[in-house]
Amino acid sequence: ITENLDGKAALVTGASSGIGEQTAKALAESGASVALAARREDELQQLADEIESDGGETLVVPTDVTDEDEVAEMVDRTHEEFGSVDVLVNNAGVMLLEHVEDADTDNFRQMVEVNLLGLMDVTHEVLPYMQKQGEGHIVNISSVAGRKAMAGGAGYNATKFGVNGFTEALRQEVTGENDIRTTLIEPGFVETELAEHIPDDEQQEQTKEMYEQMDVLQPEDIARSIAFAVGQPTHVDVNELLIRPTSQE
Ligand code: NDP
Repeated sequence: ITENLDGKAALVTGASSGIGEQTAKALAESGASVALAARREDELQQLADEIESDGGETLVVPTDVTDEDEVAEMVDRTHEEFGSVDVLVNNAGVMLLEHVEDADTDNFRQMVEVNLLGLMDVTHEVLPYMQKQGEGHIVNISSVAGRKAMAGGAGYNATKFGVNGFTEALRQEVTGENDIRTTLIEPGFVETELAEHIPDDEQQEQTKEMYEQMDVLQPEDIARSIAFAVGQPTHVDVNELLIRPTSQE
C-alpha cells in the first residue's frame, strides 16, 4: 500500500528504544536511510548494526533534544551524510506522571523541554532544509493524552496538547507552500520503557496495572502507522492518526 522510500532520508528522535526504534526499522525496511538520535549511544549503535545487517543505511547521531546546539548539529550531520532530510519523526519524549500538588517542578520542566520545546527546536532546524528541497514530511508523536486530560497527567497533558496545537499551526503555515506534509500520531497504551521513568511509585504502579489489564499496543503497531502515513503519495497528507488498543476506553 505504501510507496517505496528508496533514496529518502529520515531522522528519528528517541530512536534508542520503543516506538522510535521500531519506526527507524520500519522506515529502513521501506528503503529510507535513517539517522538515529537519542542520548544513549550504545543502544543507537546496536540498532544501526541491526538495520545495516539487513541492508539498510544509518547514521548514529547521539543527541539530547533539549540542547539547541546538539539539535542543530544533528540536523546538519543528517543532511551532510544523506544529502537531504525528507522525513522527520519527532518522537523523543518522557512521561513523568505526578499530581500537581506533589510534583517536582524539575519534572515539569523536563517534560516541556523534551516533549515540546525539543520537538519545536528540531522542527525549526529541519524546516529550512525541507523548504529548500521543496518537500518534506514532519511526523510528530503526540498521544491520546494530547486530546484527553487525566488526573495525574497535568504536566504530560500540557506538553502533548501543546504538540497538537503546534502541529496544526505548522500545517497551516506550510500547506500549499511546496510539498511539506505534517502528521500527528496519537497512540494509546503502548508497551515500552515510558512508564519505567515515572517518578511517583504509586503513579507508576497504577499505570503499569492499566497496561496489564489490556492487550496493549506494541511499538511495531505505531511504527506501521507512521510508515503508512510517510509512504503515501506526495499529494496525500495523513494529518492525524489516533491509535488505541482495541480494549482501551
Ligand atoms: P521510550 O521510553 O521507550 O522512548 C522514549 C525515547 O525518547 C527514548 O529513545 C529516549 O532515549 C528518548 N529521549 C528521552 N529524553 C530525551 C532527550 N532529552 N533527548 C533525546 N532523546 C530523548 O518510550 P516510547 O517509545 O513509548 O515513547 C516515544 C514517544 O511516544 C514519546 O513521545 C511518548 O510520549 C509517546 N507515547 C507513548 C505512549 C506509550 O504508551 N508508550 C503512548 C502515547 C505516546 P534516550 O533515553 O536514549 O535519550
